[in-house]
Amino acid sequence: MFNEDIRQTIAFPDYDVIVAGAGLAGVAAAVSAAREGMRVLVVERYGFAGGMAASALVNPFMNYFESGANGKLVNKGLFETFRKDMQALGATKKAEKRGCHAFNDELLKIVLDREMAKNGVDVLYHALLSDVSVKNGTINSVTVSTVSGNFDLKAKFFIDATGNADLTAFAGLEFKLGRENDNRVQPMTLCFRLSGVDESKLDVRLINEKYAEMRREGRIKNKREDVLLFNFRDVDCGEGLIHFNTTRILEKNPVSALDRSAAEIEAREQVLEMVGFLKDNFDCMKNAYLVNMAAETGIRESRRIVGLYEITASDIVNARKFDDSIARGSYEIDIHSPDGTGTHHVRLKEGEYYTIPYRAMVPVAAVNLLAAGRPLSSTHEAHAAFRVMPITTCIGEAAGTAAAMAVRKGMRAADVPISELREKLVGYGALI
Ligand SMILES: Cc1cc2nc3c(=O)[nH]c(=O)nc-3n(C[C@H](O)[C@H](O)[C@H](O)COP(=O)(O)OP(=O)(O)OC[C@H]3O[C@@H](n4cnc5c(N)ncnc54)[C@H](O)[C@@H]3O)c2cc1C
Repeated sequence: MFNEDIRQTIAFPDYDVIVAGAGLAGVAAAVSAAREGMRVLVVERYGFAGGMAASALVNPFMNYFESGANGKLVNKGLFETFRKDMQALGATKKAEKRGCHAFNDELLKIVLDREMAKNGVDVLYHALLSDVSVKNGTINSVTVSTVSGNFDLKAKFFIDATGNADLTAFAGLEFKLGRENDNRVQPMTLCFRLSGVDESKLDVRLINEKYAEMRREGRIKNKREDVLLFNFRDVDCGEGLIHFNTTRILEKNPVSALDRSAAEIEAREQVLEMVGFLKDNFDCMKNAYLVNMAAETGIRESRRIVGLYEITASDIVNARKFDDSIARGSYEIDIHSPDGTGTHHVRLKEGEYYTIPYRAMVPVAAVNLLAAGRPLSSTHEAHAAFRVMPITTCIGEAAGTAAAMAVRKGMRAADVPISELREKLVGYGALI
């Protein structure tokens, strides 16, 4: 509201928990801390929640059932709550079978706004976390840059759900990046969508044959080996809308400001190349229209915290069940090659799931900080499995619940009693 104070002075209270980033992990963390009675603030650089799903148009939800044909659900809790809210708006269909599930990301934003409001979470959109004040491992405040100026925001506990571990890195804590031997990360991808596609004539095999031929002839520059596309038949009125996850930005560091700018420019050229290829060669694309490119090129992998435990590929493929498990996952190791062409998959055995240990969320030397979502402590290979949205949402839920316990008991992140945390999560319907 306008008032006599045209400078719009804002006084923020001190919070129990501040969550940086309103991706699925961040929202789940904020909601779970708030429902435990905490005063919670989420700071988010964009004007909406949803993270990669909303800003980078990442879609669909990857499989959240045990591997194999008859697998049971592995991601429940708040992920299921959000999914049901979306179902009620026609934003996705009921998940009756394993596989990917498309959703309407515009409606996802509203679902997440409502969940945060319902649980009394304060939300500060258009607020970029740009600095951290830390002493002896204890974070005192974070600085956010907003249209009203910069603010130092205080809390007893912080959750880094920025996807890129910005909070952890800005606090001077240790992190890793990319492959162990050369720090290279999985490629970035700018997702885009075409409307007006005649799905009755869409033949993905044919598209890929032609794509391979033109790549061999050097008429396509994109290094990706195939055209990856998804439909929106899980969503009301999704007919004719096709999602493309098929550009490939290589040799760029997603946490270098300069590389990210260059990546956006290169990715848009790749979209143009792909749209031209599709419209020039396929009848089903005759009336296709480029409705959108994502607001940002999506980041699969960037900083990973150095935590009390590092999740390994062996933990994933051997479906390890940790004593301090706080979430489950079944998505396979899926590495889009940092070198160029190729995607490497290592699948789990039939009917299996792995678990995520609490210790992988706790940065070494941190007192009042947990990481949630994508940047958990892990190897490059293991990260390529648990990074998908159903799992990062569950990790977020655990982080928020643990943060509330740490605040209430006046404890360090590392000392949160695991059995009590696990009991609480199960009580809220999570599978751990
Ligand atoms: C191209 C691509 C394809 C993918 N395909 C799939 C798929 O098909 N299915 C699937 O399930 N997963 C997929 N993934 C993985 C998945 O999207 C991400 O790993 C997941 O979204 C991570 O969730 P998160 O909440 O941890 O982080 P994010 O979704 O990255 O959310 C982080 C949030 O923090 C905010 N933020 C970041 N820095 C700051 C800051 N300094 N200050 C304030 N706010 C900040 C961001 O704006 C964002 O809202 C894909 C990822 C990419 C990039």
